[in-house]
Amino acid sequence: MYLILLGPPGAGKGTQAERLEEELHLPHVASGDLFRDNLKNQTELGLLARQYMDKGDLVPDDVTIAMVRERLQRPDCDQGAILDGFPRTQAQVQGLDRMLDDLGRKLDGVLYIAVPDEELVRRLSGRWICRQCQTPYHTIFSPPATEGVCDACGGELYQRDDDKPETVRARLKVYHQQTAPLIDYYRQVGLLVEVDGAGDIDTVSAALLEAAKRMTNGK
Ligand code: ADP
Ligand code: AMP
Repeated sequence: MYLILLGPPGAGKGTQAERLEEELHLPHVASGDLFRDNLKNQTELGLLARQYMDKGDLVPDDVTIAMVRERLQRPDCDQGAILDGFPRTQAQVQGLDRMLDDLGRKLDGVLYIAVPDEELVRRLSGRWICRQCQTPYHTIFSPPATEGVCDACGGELYQRDDDKPETVRARLKVYHQQTAPLIDYYRQVGLLVEVDGAGDIDTVSAALLEAAKRMTNGK
C-alpha cells in the first residue's frame, strides 16, 4: 500500500500522516524530515539541501529521488509507505514510478489535501516542531500539553527557519509553479482523491482515513 499525501506547505500532511501511520500501520516517509535529519547530522546531503531549503527552493530532483529510493528500500517499507512531500515535480513522479517498479510495487493512490493560501500562512506562522521526532504542533490549533515540549517523546519544540513569512511566500510560489500541476496529472491517471483540508484536524483525519480505506480496498 503506497499512498501519497499531496498538498501545499502547511496543508497538514505531517499532522495527518502521523494519524494515518497508526491507523494503517504504514511508515511515514517525509522527504522534508529526511533532509532535516541529514541537516541535524551535518551530512554532505544535509549541507547541500540546506542551501535550497533556506531559500524555500526545491532540492534538485536527482538528489531527492536517490534519498527517497534509499528510504523505501529499507525493510520497514516492505508493506508500503505514506509519502509526504514527495513527489513534488514531474521528474520525481517518474522517479517514484521507477522505484516502485523496481520493487515490484505500485502506487495505490494520492490524497490531495486542499487548503487556501491565507489559511496556510496562519498555520505555518504558528507551527512548532519536535526536534527529536518532528511531530508538528500549533500554538492555537494543536498546542502541546506543556509549552515547548513534545507530547509524543518529550523532545524540545522549535520553529522552523523556513516558516518565516518571506520564506513561506517563496515556498508557496514554488508549490504553485512546480507541484500543483501534479494534482491534474494524478487526477487524469485516476489516482487522485481530493479532501477538503480547511476543516479542523479531526474532521480532515476522518475524511482522509475513509478515502485511504476506500482506495486500498480494505487491503
Ligand atoms: P505540512 O506537513 O503539510 O507542511 P503540518 O502537518 O506541519 O503541514 O501542519 C502545519 C501547521 O498547521 C502545524 O502547526 C499543524 O499543527 C497545523 N495544522 C495541521 N492541520 C490543521 C488543521 N486542520 N487545522 C488547523 N491547524 C492545522
Ligand atoms: P517540507 O518539510 O516538506 O515542508 O520540506 C522542507 C523543504 O525541504 C522544502 O522547502 C524543500 O527545500 C525541501 N524538500 C522537501 N521535499 C522535497 C522534494 N520532494 N523535492 C525537493 N525538495 C524538497
